[in-house]
Amino acid sequence: MNYYSLNKKAANVDFRDATIKGQAPDKGLYFPERIPIVDADTIKNIGNYSKEALALEIMLPYVGNTISKTDLQKIVTETIHFPFPLVPVNNDIYSLELFHGPTLAFKDVGARFMSRCLGYFSTQQEKKITVLVATSGDTGGAVANGFLGVEGVEVVILYPSGKVSPVQELQLTTCGQNIKALEVKGSFDDCQAMVKDAFMDADLNNHLTLTSANSINVARWLPQQLYYFFAYQQWIKENDTAPVISVPSGNFGNICAGLLAHVSGLPVDHFIAACNVNDAVPEYLRTGNYQSKKAVSTISNAMDVGSPSNFVRVLELFQSSYQTISEKISGYTVSDKITMQTIASVYQNNHYLLDPHGAVAYYALSEYLGSHPGKKGMILETAHPVKFPDTVEEVIGKSIEIPDSVKPLFSLVKKSVLIDPTFSELKSWLLTR
Ligand SMILES: *Cc1c(COP(=O)(O)O)cnc(C)c1O
Repeated sequence: MNYYSLNKKAANVDFRDATIKGQAPDKGLYFPERIPIVDADTIKNIGNYSKEALALEIMLPYVGNTISKTDLQKIVTETIHFPFPLVPVNNDIYSLELFHGPTLAFKDVGARFMSRCLGYFSTQQEKKITVLVATSGDTGGAVANGFLGVEGVEVVILYPSGKVSPVQELQLTTCGQNIKALEVKGSFDDCQAMVKDAFMDADLNNHLTLTSANSINVARWLPQQLYYFFAYQQWIKENDTAPVISVPSGNFGNICAGLLAHVSGLPVDHFIAACNVNDAVPEYLRTGNYQSKKAVSTISNAMDVGSPSNFVRVLELFQSSYQTISEKISGYTVSDKITMQTIASVYQNNHYLLDPHGAVAYYALSEYLGSHPGKKGMILETAHPVKFPDTVEEVIGKSIEIPDSVKPLFSLVKKSVLIDPTFSELKSWLLTR
């Protein structure tokens, strides 16, 4: 399988080069040159498959011969080495819990797969690979954890000082080894701008092999399809129609992976792009006009994205046909106030604790089901509520039980380097350390 750049100016590359480069030289996102179709028999008998066998079958065509089948089996098995339970919340809505990985967010799946692929590819080249990543919270922890101890790869994480939650900060600053955390005296936008400048700087790129670990990287984006298949394995045990799937969306990598799974043959009745007030895509779905916006801060901060980078992939999947896209996907805009009301009411009525991102998806799905009687669906619960304690504890009026897997974090010591929010600071740090 080869990948082309959505800007159509750069050469096509295989999975290996797409992973190492992250973004094409013409600044386009890579896209698979054809969409593999999952065997209809596999879908029909999906209940008989192990997660590991299913994952291998799905990823194999995307990876092609750049990784041997035995090694790919090992990589996918390690990637999905935790549960993906589909939990009923009420009669019509299930929650696909994607927070049982090591950093309690769905980003663990993409980060674990990408880190293992890069580790595999780095053995084939002499120069160390440096992964540079800006985070508003969840990406940093997942990437740090995923890449910890991977030989030949070093990770530099930039995060905005004072703007990530305590659990998130510990997750990204306590790894040590090949993981370095830069605490930037500025905003997430500053961090992102510094990383972008780094990829553009010829001098820096002569010294280092830089790549990004954001969802523009195909090795982070593609494996996110897997849990849509795992969800369906569980769904069909109790339901005989296809689900409506509501995805809390920011950069649109997650929902775009679900759409890819659907185009490959996975039965899905309808998708919901659930957004907070950063709603460039819901606006497009309502009007047919796409306009990026300036990002606004909300309590579901992993979705505070004004210009979702994977939206171009959604367009490409459906040949930019507004008609097809608006038949497949509905968009919803959910305010912080409604998000908090949703956390409260679902906790009271269903004894289920949502995090702010899952709550946005839940509200959007219940609105949609309200106007489409007879349908049922699931939300993707993208993070554990303990990652957002300020909001969740304020709403339910008590503290959240900390999962055992997180407790050891609190005895570790934060290690970060405080830097000014400028590219020159970043560059000199990268070159002189
Ligand atoms: C990153 C993130 C999202 C948004 O996912 P995209 O793939 O960027 O749309 C939603 N919820 C949580 C908890 C996240 O960390």
